[in-house]
Amino acid sequence: MKTLKALGLSCILISGFGNAQTATEQQTIPADLTAETFAACLPELSQKAKQAGIDDSTIARGLSNAQFIPNVIKYDRNQPEFVRTFPNYISKRVTDWRINKGRDLLAKHKDLLQDLYEEYGIPQRYIVAFWGLETNFGGIKGKMPIIDSLATLACDYRRSEFFTKELIHSLELMQREALPKEQMIGSWAGAMGHTQFMPSAYLQYAKDGDNDGKVDLWNSVPDALTSAAHFLKNLGWQAGYRWGREVILPEGFDYSLIGRDKSKTLAQWSELGVSRTNGASLGNSDLKSSLLLPAGHKGPAFVVYKNFDVIMRWNFSEFYAISVGYLADRLTGAGHFSVPLPDLPNYSIAQVKDLQMKLNQLGFDVGTADGIMGPATRRGIQGFQSANEFIADGFPAPELFDAVSEAANSSSVL
Ligand code: CA
Repeated sequence: MKTLKALGLSCILISGFGNAQTATEQQTIPADLTAETFAACLPELSQKAKQAGIDDSTIARGLSNAQFIPNVIKYDRNQPEFVRTFPNYISKRVTDWRINKGRDLLAKHKDLLQDLYEEYGIPQRYIVAFWGLETNFGGIKGKMPIIDSLATLACDYRRSEFFTKELIHSLELMQREALPKEQMIGSWAGAMGHTQFMPSAYLQYAKDGDNDGKVDLWNSVPDALTSAAHFLKNLGWQAGYRWGREVILPEGFDYSLIGRDKSKTLAQWSELGVSRTNGASLGNSDLKSSLLLPAGHKGPAFVVYKNFDVIMRWNFSEFYAISVGYLADRLTGAGHFSVPLPDLPNYSIAQVKDLQMKLNQLGFDVGTADGIMGPATRRGIQGFQSANEFIADGFPAPELFDAVSEAANSSSVL
């Protein structure tokens, strides 16, 4: 999906996972962008914009006095030091403040949200949940100049192609909507307005919800929420289905079945003894779903449906997608998770690398020790857990770190 909302993607990657990948893939690192190389790059960007059909006056308005913003490069380079745990992540996002404010806004925009539900099939609570998570319901929309930020990123080597496209889309947006450059304000990575749309998503999916002839995602709540509903429908939202739900696993559950890369029907999960949190059956439908344990076997378990993948197309993070679903449920009266969130320390990227090297040394192959908790690392952990009489949930709990270290030390002594 080409409009994958990479804005959220960048924000989440910065705060959690994945950046190390591009760093390790980079063979030779070009010199850092400077004011001089930026100035030399601008005519090229103007040329590309012209080739894409942007008119001369818009190019002049957008790029003739574009400024190099060193901080944008700094934000883009920011490597997380710690891997954020699910309890830490979700407790900072699904807060009492957001739940209460979201409930007020559900009531305040009842008619609009009902219309959107009827037209696009997206339940009210999800639209408000996205709004709350993206910008605190419009409270934090970003203050960076979009054109200059995107021009800076387009001239930098790291993700030049992607940001050049978004820059050209942002100029196209200025041209189409007759927007002054000063109005093009948002996050350092180019996301704009109440629901943080990248220029490509703005161009393709934003709608005029209040029928004033303009599409204004910064100042019009009806425009922003209508656009979010339209975007979600286009990302493949299945009307009439939930995102997923919390479930209870039976004693002796086979933890090799967890992960988004595996799926079973609700009937199959039911047969394996997985139930709703109130003990009721999940039913016997052939709805495909995956099982997630974001905080290990001591934390809550979830089955997630196709709409969970849709949320991840908006922002590619399992934690984010669970947060959207959970906040949405809380807005309409659902309670806390049935299992308390375990108290887990945030572990460092260096600790994960060390764990990975030791697992490899012990013969539990996790691939390259890159500090990222991916599927291969989970499988390696599961292998170690199975061989050492731990519950094989693939989760790096503190006691797992200790046990692997101990095993690695004694194997190197022998
Ligand atoms: Ca409007």
